[in-house]
This record gives sequence, C-alpha cells and structure tokens, in this order.
Amino acid sequence: MADIIKLLPDHVANQIAAGEVVQRPSSVVKELLENAIDAGATQIKLIIKDAGKTLIQIIDDGKGMSETDARMSFERHATSKITSADDLFNLNTKGFRGEALASIAAVAHVELKTRTAQSETGTFIEIEGSNIITQEICATPQGTSLSVKNLFFNIPARRNFLKSNTVELRHIIDEFHRVALAHPQIKLAMYHNDGEVFQLQAGNLKQRIVAIFGGKTNEKLVPVAEETAIVTIQGYIVKPEFSKKTRGEQFFFVNHRFIKSAYLNHAVSAAFDGLLPDRARASYFLYLTVDPSTIDINIHPTKTEIKFDDEHALYAMLRSTIKHSLGQFNIAPVLDFDRDANLDTPYKYKDKPASIPNVTVDRGFNPFEHVDPPKRGAKLPTYEKQNVEGWEQLYEGLQQVPTGASNVTYESEVATGELFTSKENHPLGKTESTTYQLHNKYIISTIKSGMVIIDQHRAHQRVLYEELLRNITIKESVSQQLLFPLVLSYTPSELELLIQLKEGLENTGFVFGAIKDEALEIMGIPTSLPEAEVPIVIEQLLSDLESEVPDVGFSQTDTLAKSMAKSMAVKAGEVLDATSREHLVNSLFACKEPTISPANRTTFITMNADELERKFL
Ligand code: ADP
Ligand code: MG
Repeated sequence: MADIIKLLPDHVANQIAAGEVVQRPSSVVKELLENAIDAGATQIKLIIKDAGKTLIQIIDDGKGMSETDARMSFERHATSKITSADDLFNLNTKGFRGEALASIAAVAHVELKTRTAQSETGTFIEIEGSNIITQEICATPQGTSLSVKNLFFNIPARRNFLKSNTVELRHIIDEFHRVALAHPQIKLAMYHNDGEVFQLQAGNLKQRIVAIFGGKTNEKLVPVAEETAIVTIQGYIVKPEFSKKTRGEQFFFVNHRFIKSAYLNHAVSAAFDGLLPDRARASYFLYLTVDPSTIDINIHPTKTEIKFDDEHALYAMLRSTIKHSLGQFNIAPVLDFDRDANLDTPYKYKDKPASIPNVTVDRGFNPFEHVDPPKRGAKLPTYEKQNVEGWEQLYEGLQQVPTGASNVTYESEVATGELFTSKENHPLGKTESTTYQLHNKYIISTIKSGMVIIDQHRAHQRVLYEELLRNITIKESVSQQLLFPLVLSYTPSELELLIQLKEGLENTGFVFGAIKDEALEIMGIPTSLPEAEVPIVIEQLLSDLESEVPDVGFSQTDTLAKSMAKSMAVKAGEVLDATSREHLVNSLFACKEPTISPANRTTFITMNADELERKFL
C-alpha cells in the first residue's frame, strides 16, 4: 500500500490550532490586551465594531517590535517571553505560548503597525489567513496597533456559529473588565461602534472598581487585606446587603491574572454564610499573590484555571480573611471563626425591630366564681369575649355539626377533607374539571383517560414563553403605564447590553424613558408583570445573556422570551387557587408545544386508568 500520512500544510495546521485559542471575538480581545500589557503599555485603547465581528483594534504605547520581531510574532510558537520549559514555573507575563498572533492571523484579516523607541520608522504588516500580503516601512507612534478584521472570514461555519451582537459584546466587556481590574494603573478606553463604553483613568483599585461598576459602588465595598507566608490577599468584598439576587460580580486574580475557581469561590461563600438573603450571591474583587513556583497555570488552554500547590491552606485562609473583614466592619454578627452557625440570626430577622410581647390581664377575674362551660350556641358570658381574642374560632365547626350527628362522624369527615387542599374541590362538591395542587408544586387534573400531573412552574413558563414570543414578533403587546416611572441603576456595561435589547423589550410591553448616567428609566411595563418584579426580570435577563450556552444558537428574541418567561412564571411553592389552576391547565394545552418547557424539560406526565389499575393488582 502506498504511504498515506502527510504533514498538514502550515495554514491548515494554524487554522486547526486557532480553534483552541480563538473561540469568539472576546478571545481575540483578551489575547491582544494581554500582549499590550506584556509590552509594558501605560495606555491601551480598544476599538470594536459590530461586537468584534467586523473589527477589533487595540492600540498600545508599549515597547513595540523591531522589523524582524514584527514578522516573527506571527509564527507559531514564536514568543519573547519564555526560552525554556523551566520558565513556565516563574512566569511574570500573561502570554507564553507564542500562539495567539499566529492563530488570529490564520482566521482573520490582520494589520499590524508597530515601532520601538529606538527606531525612527515603524513596520506595517498585512496578513490574510496566514498569508503575508504587505510588509513595509511606515510612520507610526511608538507602540503597537493591531487590527483584526472579519474574524473567521475563511471558516464560515465558525462565523455563523457566533452569537448575537449582544451576547458577543457581553463576552468582550467581560474580558475588558477582567483586564481592567487586574491592572488599575493602566489607562484604558473602550469604544463600540464609535460610541465610548469605558474611559478608565489610571488609579488605584477602588477607583477602578467604581469607574467600571458605577459611582454607587463606592459605599458598598469593604476592604480585605491579609498577609501570610504562602499568600497575600487584597481587594474588596461587597457588603452583604448589596449582594445581587441572580449573579454577583465575582473576580479572583492570582498574580494579576484573572482565574475561575469554584473551590475558592466556595471559600468566600462560606465566609458569607448566613449573611446573604436567599439565593443571593456574594460579590468580590480579590487579589491573591503567591510565589509563581507554587502554581501551575498551564493546565487550561485559555488559562482561566490554575492549579495551586496547597489549595486547602488557601481555602482556609481565604475564608477566615473574608470573615475577619466582614466582622471588622460590623457586618458579621460574631468574630469567632468557628462559631455555631445555628446561633446566627437568620437574615430575614436581621435589622428588624424586636416586638414586645403583648400581655393582657383580666383584672376582674375571680377564680372562685363558678362559671358553667359555654354551651354550644349559648350566649357566652361577656368577660370571656374580652379576654380571649378570636375565641369564636375555637368553636367554629362545632356549630356546623349537623344536629344529631355524633362527634365521631364529624371527626372522620374532617380527616377526609384534609386530603384535598382546597375546600371548593371537596370530593362531594362539583366533579367535572377538578384540579388539585400537590405540594404547592404540581397540579393534578382529571382527563378522560385518567389523570395528568403538571409541573406548575414549567407549565407556566411554556405558556408565557409562547405568549412573549408572539408579542415580540407581532409587536402588539399591551403595556401598563406606570404612575411614577421606575428608575433602576445599572453599570455602564449592563446599560450597553440593555440598549441592544431595547427593541425586543419594548415589544413585550416595556416603555423606556431616559437611559443615561448609570440609570434606566422605565415608564411602562408589560401588563402581566407586577411592578415589583421588574428589577428581578431585568437582572435575570442580564444574567442569562452572560451565561448563555454557546452551542444552543438561538436568536436574541428567543433568549429574551425564555428569560422573561423563567422569571415571570409562578414558582414551586406558590399556592394557586382553583381559577388560576384551571386557567393554567387550559392555557398549557392551548400551547403549540405543551409537552416541554422552554428549557426542554417535561411539563406534565399522565397516568391512565390501565396504569392505575395495574398498581392495584
Ligand atoms: P505570547 O504572548 O504567548 O508570547 P503572542 O502570539 O501573543 O505570544 O505574541 C508573540 C510575540 O509578539 C510576543 O512574545 C511579543 O514579543 C510580541 N508582541 C505581541 N504583541 C505585542 C505588542 N502589543 N507589543 C509588543 N510586542 C508584542
Ligand atoms: Mg500573547
């Protein structure tokens, strides 16, 4: 047989390898920002068009590259940052793989302009899909400007796979936040479609956090500082009362590198234990400095996960440091690190005034006075009425006992009645179209063939989802005008995302006023949405955009409808009266796809008479 193994041509190998480094526009942003920082830049400008799909440009005032280096920088495994594998254990730079520029150049149109301080002229290089188109001398300021245009122009599958501009922009802003928070001393600006999104002056960490997350953040921060032999911990946590319901600003940096760590996040959450309202998440900006030889950042290609030599010690230190900060600022009830959590005041009672027990004394009470026990239906002595408030209830029911019925029958009737949670569905009452609620979570209803058990939360999501989708597409929703407009605060980046979603939201019934100065004015809301739930719905929406799974590939309208349906639907635990139950059952079966929730979960199960009979065999 003839030999069949061939070496892949460079540009193909590069395209394949690029898949690992460049997943979406935000990956390019991350790599280029990191290169600028490694080059010692003090000012970096990020310019984005169409959420990075058309253009990503980064201009820095770093050390620049010589003519040869400029050419070399696009070669795979070409780096100035390490020379041997040993260097991996003593990294002081963000990059080290020498892969980013080669990968980006393999899947986009790239233009580089760069000049070092020593050289009078700069170098201009143009590359398309790994092929050099132009290399020439040019005039350019010291530093580097790199433009990445038409990302994935030569891999249509990848390009189509990109999500809506809102989602891609969200990812870019996330990367920008991470770099900006890791380097507060660097001046950073970001522009999207010619509008300025961020203008961050060089400053300290607190100034940087406030510049990114808005002026109101200042009063919410509590400093954290601890120095031990193995780790230095610095940064800020957000006071528990300002924690967010569905998502938090959670940032860990290790040696100025953003990392994700479920384990360390757990340590912080454990310190906040008992202080956060239900489902809320702690927000934090924490900076760990460790000896570079005690970590391994090499285990993940996009480098957001790292391995620590002594994770357990780190966990314990982090937890007690955060507790200490919470305690020092009078936030935690006790300072004792090993306190019994059972003794803490539950959050919902915190800060509530204690009520004084109400004791009433009957001054006219005479223990020697003989009083006959009250007879059924008899007029009661007046003093009893004054003392025992609500006494009538004690006798309720007794009066309903049909005359002549013995006590025994009466009691058994009560027991039967309790099997059914609502009175109006008493088995002896009306029999057609009866619904019951089980555990405040399921609705049970009879159907011809037997019975159906419906998950109330999922079913309602399905109903709302189809209704919202319809409204958004036909643009004919009704909205309720608010008497007093709602003004909600958001960070500049959240507002940027909401602006992208504005039209869709308006089609569901929202009416917006001014959007400026970290605030969103809402003049009208969808009729089906209670005003108090508006902030929750919007927060959920922002959080869903952030965590949207990349491979589901749905439109923005779909995300919007799903997210709103999720937050507006009745929850498990909510008691539904007979009318609501019946309405929900009917609306569910009027849906196009009643069997599954918008998140593809089963909405109901049925049990037919045969199955029931088999169970009784
Ligand atoms: P790495 O960052 O892992 O070294 P890259 O492919 O990102 O790999 O970059 C290759 C090399 O190009 C870097 O090592 C650096 O010497 C040079 N380089 C890249 N970007 C810049 C920049 N903005 N300023 C100066 N040099 C740069
Ligand atoms: Mg790099």
